[in-house]
Amino acid sequence: MNAPATLEEVRASAPGAEGLVSLDLIRTLVAFDTTSRDSNLALIEWVRAYLARHGIESSLTFDDERRKANLFATLPARDGNVTDGGIVLSGHTDVVPVEGQPWDTNPFEATIRDGRIYGRGVTDMKSFSAVGLSFVPEFLSRGLRKPLHFALSYDEEVGCIGVRRMIDDIVARGIRPAGCIVGEPTGMQLVVAHKGKRAWRCRVRGFEAHSSLTPHGVNAVQIACEIVAYIAHRARQFRDNGQRDEAYDVPYSTAHVGIIRGGTALNIVPRDCTFDFEIRHLPFDDPEAFIADVRAFAAQFIAGMKAVDAHTFIEFDHLSTLPGFDTEDGSEITTLGHACNATDDVGKVSFGTEASLFHAANVPAIICGPGHIAQAHQPNEWVELAQIAQCESFMRRLADRLAA
Ligand SMILES: [Zn+2]
Repeated sequence: MNAPATLEEVRASAPGAEGLVSLDLIRTLVAFDTTSRDSNLALIEWVRAYLARHGIESSLTFDDERRKANLFATLPARDGNVTDGGIVLSGHTDVVPVEGQPWDTNPFEATIRDGRIYGRGVTDMKSFSAVGLSFVPEFLSRGLRKPLHFALSYDEEVGCIGVRRMIDDIVARGIRPAGCIVGEPTGMQLVVAHKGKRAWRCRVRGFEAHSSLTPHGVNAVQIACEIVAYIAHRARQFRDNGQRDEAYDVPYSTAHVGIIRGGTALNIVPRDCTFDFEIRHLPFDDPEAFIADVRAFAAQFIAGMKAVDAHTFIEFDHLSTLPGFDTEDGSEITTLGHACNATDDVGKVSFGTEASLFHAANVPAIICGPGHIAQAHQPNEWVELAQIAQCESFMRRLADRLAA
């Protein structure tokens, strides 16, 4: 199904779309295929030109190959201040792949139907960025007490990689925002905390033998499975005896193994087995204690392995770290968030976002964006027009607060 040709036709054909000001920007951003493995520069250049038309300069920070960039841009306060205080609106520009997913529409053409917009990234998370950008003329015409920053990143979906360079650059340039709003999909709920995440790869090197002679070999698959079972055991301990925070959808730390590879044939004692595992921990739970326990458990196999062959080993490679964060209720940014989305309740989520990296750089953060995480990364990803309307109301109140 094709999107209607003009915005007027869209608005006329879609109940709920009439008053929205951000639809053309949503359609524009979705039309850029910014799957994480590919360049996002076409989108970044478009946004840079859009901001330049409003007299706003952007600064870009690139990846090593200069195929991808973050964009940081500041709407100055009335008095010209561009560094002290103010708010960051943060969004990632990349999206997850569509390959292998059964889409009913072109994922890179935002399609409005039945009160929803369909397209890759409409909920995770181009709509928030588009709504924010569509309010640039309003922010500018009303004037700001404090600067307002846009922070659009690359490679969020592959480990929050790009934003780290942008945050380093912001800090180096002496820009000290008072808070950050990350527009990941929360159903426009105010989210003030998320879990941290650490991931590792475990590599077990055994010793090959004919499978009729198992005592002469070291079975890497079986040793790996012992360690995997220990991780599952620790996960049950988190569930049954661990610390809890009932504000989370999963109120305790979790651990799991997501990938395992090993062995070549049933009649060969396998030499190699590799598996990837992670912990998603409550902000006050210590992930170091977990990995120390896993290492200690694995260590008990080493002597037996070495007795068969000196080249055997068990090694752990660190893959990624994303800290957790928990912004205090009553802080300036949560108070602003409550004022902008007109609610008092707060939530906590188990998925990681860039919010924790801003938080770690002394920029207190909240998460609030249109759409729901359940639709993120799915075929036929959608967001309700009503969520877009709520997000526009949020921006309008933000303009009120920043102009007052
Ligand atoms: Zn996202």
